[in-house]
Amino acid sequence: MRELRVACERENGERRVPEYVLWEPSLTVKLVESSMREVRELKSLELGYTVLKEADIKQRQEDDISKVSTVLSISRVDATILLRNYNWNVSKVHDEWFADEEGVRQSVGLLERPVVQVSDARELTCGICFDSLPRETITSAACGHPFCRACWRGYISTTINDGPGCLSLRCPDPSCNAAVGEDMIDKLATAEEKKKYSRYLLRSYIEDNKMTKWCPAPGCEYAVEFASGSGNFDVSCICSHSFCWNCTEEAHRPVDCATVAKWILKNSAESENMNW
Ligand SMILES: [Zn+2]
Ligand SMILES: [Zn+2]
Ligand SMILES: [Zn+2]
Ligand SMILES: [Zn+2]
Repeated sequence: MRELRVACERENGERRVPEYVLWEPSLTVKLVESSMREVRELKSLELGYTVLKEADIKQRQEDDISKVSTVLSISRVDATILLRNYNWNVSKVHDEWFADEEGVRQSVGLLERPVVQVSDARELTCGICFDSLPRETITSAACGHPFCRACWRGYISTTINDGPGCLSLRCPDPSCNAAVGEDMIDKLATAEEKKKYSRYLLRSYIEDNKMTKWCPAPGCEYAVEFASGSGNFDVSCICSHSFCWNCTEEAHRPVDCATVAKWILKNSAESENMNW
């Protein structure tokens, strides 16, 4: 049962500050948890940056996708496409969407309904190999353009192996800009290609986001999110490497980035001259 306790605390040896504590074990746990979270937040606020491990990055990415998917009432796959197009900036996605949903859908290729009438014929013609095939072997993105699974697999495999451009995959029909999202990748790519794709997606979250960067230390897989605008860019990764978040050279406070860049240029020119 709840019991209201009145605790009196002496402050500066003279003033008595009464403190009311609602005594309930579950509440105490919650209070401790929230104050621990506050301490963590205060710490990163004080430092002006947060070091992110892979699990933190995934968690943040998932949270952002959930936020956009809930607020705009769209699927997680569509929310991911939107976020990637707006450099993972959640508020930018919300602003643009509510200002001009139609325009945003158009530019990122999120169609509300198919652009081609799907006939109910038993056989359909693939738009790449032109084979007439049973409709269950034909797959389409939201636009409805029909392609056989073999052609889709080839198309998806080539783009994934070409690099991170696969994250902005569109329908193979040259006149169509319908986005091809992770649901299609899950259906049609090999296990290894799916792994590559999700790797690119994770990297994109750090590399396309203006507030995050990878730690430049060789072999380090942590990222640093920068928050403060105090003009001090020195950060210290948990791998122990200290670097300037702005220019990613070694920490160089109080010298500014431009001076450091000139100095590095001068040094490399000098060492080139020494080789002659
Ligand atoms: Zn085909
Ligand atoms: Zn299409
Ligand atoms: Zn590091
Ligand atoms: Zn710098």
